[in-house]
Amino acid sequence: MENCLFCKIAAKQIPSSIVHEDDDLLAFKDIHPAAPVHLLIIPKQHVATLSDTTEAHTAVLGKMLALAPKLAAEHGCAVHHGVDGKPGGGFKTLINSGPDGGQEVYHLHMHLIGGPHPWRGQH
Ligand code: 5GP
Ligand code: ZN
Repeated sequence: MENCLFCKIAAKQIPSSIVHEDDDLLAFKDIHPAAPVHLLIIPKQHVATLSDTTEAHTAVLGKMLALAPKLAAEHGCAVHHGVDGKPGGGFKTLINSGPDGGQEVYHLHMHLIGGPHPWRGQH
């Protein structure tokens, strides 16, 4: 898609700090991190918003969600369970959709936000 920032990042026409790449997905660091870990997971193929997805996107949406905990683990913010069974660590996954959803870049992306608590209270 012409003039789409994240298509250009996916095509490596614009540099980014890439943390994961496969045939369908790219994940890279958010340029303005809201927390110690702030990654964006995008499908390489352009789709503007979650509302523009169809059944044809089901597999790639599943892959985005499945990648999140793997990247969280690689970046030190997996949920872990102590010997007492109490959970620790953790992260937030977020997809902003449309103006009322706070979306600024119109290429579907999932935020993966984690680290020790500074993002608490944010959306
Ligand atoms: P949205 O509000 O659309 O859900 O989030 C867009 C995100 O993209 C923001 O968190 C913003 O910091 C990030 N972003 C915007 N431009 C760039 C860029 O050129 N490179 C990277 N890595 N992130 C960007
Ligand atoms: Zn795009």
